[in-house]
Amino acid sequence: MPATLKDLLTIVKKYNNKKADLEKIKQAYEFSDMAHKGQKRKTGDSYIVHPLATAITLASMKLDAPTIIAGLLHDVPEDTNFNLIDIEKKFGSEIAGLVMGITKLSKVKYRGIERYAENLRKMFISIAEDVRVVIIKMADRLNNMQTLSALPPQKRKRISLEVLEIYAPIASRLGMGQIKGDLEDLAFPYVYPKEWKWFEKNIIPAYKEKMEEIGRIQQEIQKEFNENRVRILSMHGRKKHYYSLYLKLLRPQYDRDITKIYDLVAIRIVVPTVSDCYKILGIIHKKWKPLPGRIKDYIAQPKPNNYQSLHTTVFSPSGKVVEFQIRTLEMHEQAEFGIAAHWHFKEGSVNFFSRLPGFHPKGYNPPKKLKWIHELTEWQKYVTDSKQYLDSLKIDILKDIIFVFTPQGDVIELPEDATPVDFAYHIHTEIGNKCTASKINGQIASLDTQLKNGDMVEIMTDKSRKGPNRDWLAFVKTSSAKNKIRSFFLKKSRSPR
Ligand code: MN
Repeated sequence: MPATLKDLLTIVKKYNNKKADLEKIKQAYEFSDMAHKGQKRKTGDSYIVHPLATAITLASMKLDAPTIIAGLLHDVPEDTNFNLIDIEKKFGSEIAGLVMGITKLSKVKYRGIERYAENLRKMFISIAEDVRVVIIKMADRLNNMQTLSALPPQKRKRISLEVLEIYAPIASRLGMGQIKGDLEDLAFPYVYPKEWKWFEKNIIPAYKEKMEEIGRIQQEIQKEFNENRVRILSMHGRKKHYYSLYLKLLRPQYDRDITKIYDLVAIRIVVPTVSDCYKILGIIHKKWKPLPGRIKDYIAQPKPNNYQSLHTTVFSPSGKVVEFQIRTLEMHEQAEFGIAAHWHFKEGSVNFFSRLPGFHPKGYNPPKKLKWIHELTEWQKYVTDSKQYLDSLKIDILKDIIFVFTPQGDVIELPEDATPVDFAYHIHTEIGNKCTASKINGQIASLDTQLKNGDMVEIMTDKSRKGPNRDWLAFVKTSSAKNKIRSFFLKKSRSPR
């Protein structure tokens, strides 16, 4: 049974009971349904099923009303007789702006590696303008993936590849762990059918077995919580996503051996406060012996992507190991929804962004133009484990292209192994000609240093400097830097002495 408007409103009401918002969502649904009238999805469903599913995904991330409404309307300008002006008249400029962003992004199509960087850049631009556009696009793609079997095989593969190479890495960068995992798992069988068959046969049965065991352990530990009078908000078995497990199994230290994976299914416990987290950890350790070296306090020391939780692995009664993950609701939502958690209808008390310099929360007032990229660079200054951070930034397929940042947070695209001199010339010819030194991620670095994806590059210049150094030609990578250096010396040799 496809979902209905009522289902959507039920989810929204759980976190946003504002009458005006609910009314507007209803109007948007009716408008979209009317505009798409007579159209069918490839599945045979009437078209409205798709924008509704998109809106439901957004509501399950507790997004604000404009985002949900734009989700309902996202295919109207492209597929119906109504245009953006109609949407603006009916729903205002904020929503029209979001729908316009999605329409622009839908022109991004995967056409092989040569168009990859271009597509990625368009995504980056959308993120910088209003990250909600990309969040809606993710929800849109999720529903398209769920109904992918209705499309011809060639298309299935192309769309799935695009998901693995563009959508999932970006969702990951935005911290949207849940949608990233769901997208990857849906794409996995289409992109790697043989590997999927192996996985299905050899690995999936282990999940079932583990889930049953987890169920028994949950019951036992719940008794302890009751006796100790600690209140938990929820406890459930969290299955590791298939595709990420598959990639993990391919690593040499696991050697496709499922018994080496301790967190195949973990027990996740969500509690009201931070001190509850530690209380729960104590209760678990009192009951079952923890595995040495597996207690991780990501609350005191969050991961570079701001992930927070307590992890511990214990020997269960049957002698097998089981992982627990303990967190507050706020940590949970940040971990699952990432940047989308920032657009919650109700702003959380303290979130990751509020700890960044220059962020001044004024009650519920999410910035429309989130300087996401700027924040990424700011964030970098505060993480201790920067290698892990950079690894999470790196998109493997982009072997020949890197993205680096200016101190203002602008993204600069350069070829791999480009140097600060390439960067300087990219900014401006005069900055290139007069550069004397550079800082990479705040550290002084020589001008021939090879830049890495995610580096923040700062250029020091000397106004009295006459021009570039001829030796730079030996290490610059971009043809534009080479040409500018050459043309400087060419002019110089032509000019009278
Ligand atoms: Mn769509």
